[in-house]
Amino acid sequence: MSRVRGLKTMEKMRRRVTVGLLVGLLVAALAVATRPAKAQSAVQGLRLYVVDGGSIIIDAPEKFGLTREQVKNSNMSCPVYLIVHPRGTLLFDTGLGDRYAGRPFNEAVLGDPPDPPPMASFVLVLKTVKSQLEAIGYAPSKIDYLALSHPHVDHIGNANDFAASTFLVHKGDYDMMFGPDVKVNPAYAALKNSKTNIIEGDYDVFGDGTVVLKFTPGHTPGSVCLYLPKDAGAITTPSPQLFAGDTLFAGSIGRTDLWGGSMDDIMDSLRSKVMELPDETIVYPGHGPVTSIAQERHSNPFLTGN
Ligand SMILES: [Zn+2]
Repeated sequence: MSRVRGLKTMEKMRRRVTVGLLVGLLVAALAVATRPAKAQSAVQGLRLYVVDGGSIIIDAPEKFGLTREQVKNSNMSCPVYLIVHPRGTLLFDTGLGDRYAGRPFNEAVLGDPPDPPPMASFVLVLKTVKSQLEAIGYAPSKIDYLALSHPHVDHIGNANDFAASTFLVHKGDYDMMFGPDVKVNPAYAALKNSKTNIIEGDYDVFGDGTVVLKFTPGHTPGSVCLYLPKDAGAITTPSPQLFAGDTLFAGSIGRTDLWGGSMDDIMDSLRSKVMELPDETIVYPGHGPVTSIAQERHSNPFLTGN
């Protein structure tokens, strides 16, 4: 999407969707099951690292038709996930952009052109994604595969750093990024020259069933969720894990009012793919609080029909 269009249409955001987005905070993303690298040279099983991709600071609940009483904190974290597998490495989403690091958040205005105060959104990046990856021994040159949950501005900020990786993407999102008449976002422009694998349906990244990109169109035409089954590796939790991008939130679902969005498609993705996962699956949405398939099955108004 264009930033302009995205920010303008944010104002039209439906209330239920917004509540789900906004109740979350940095904590949710940073609380994901991360463990430090073990002191061993060869990777045994899977490792999962969570990197802070920055936060969107929006101090204006009224932008979403909400009041301060309804939403205590309207900021949104933007996590980045690194999977280390014996057969390679996968980065899932890239955060808001290292170019914002070190800038006072009230100077790093999101949008082109930005909304005027008090509706403006800001970006807060405390540490660069690149430096966090380097600190754990995975500089961009060591990332074999890049996948984006979808190519909206809050997920692609550092994509160019991974242009040497193989880009795994569905055609719908690729066309959204690089199709005819598309104004290509400079933050991911370098991916145009990346080795690109246009994937179809669900995609088993390393061929052993432990790291699967679930094709869940709706928020965008090529949206994917990252799924790690229960027995995916030593560092994963005893439950399966789903990194849901902006397809499913705690108590809500992704908006479909932006370019390429489809309510029919997202509902079909949720019913036929996401809700087919085991109840005990832990869900880490692209923003906001952690939840589970069971929790959403029983209480998400979009899924219960209540
Ligand atoms: Zn998002």
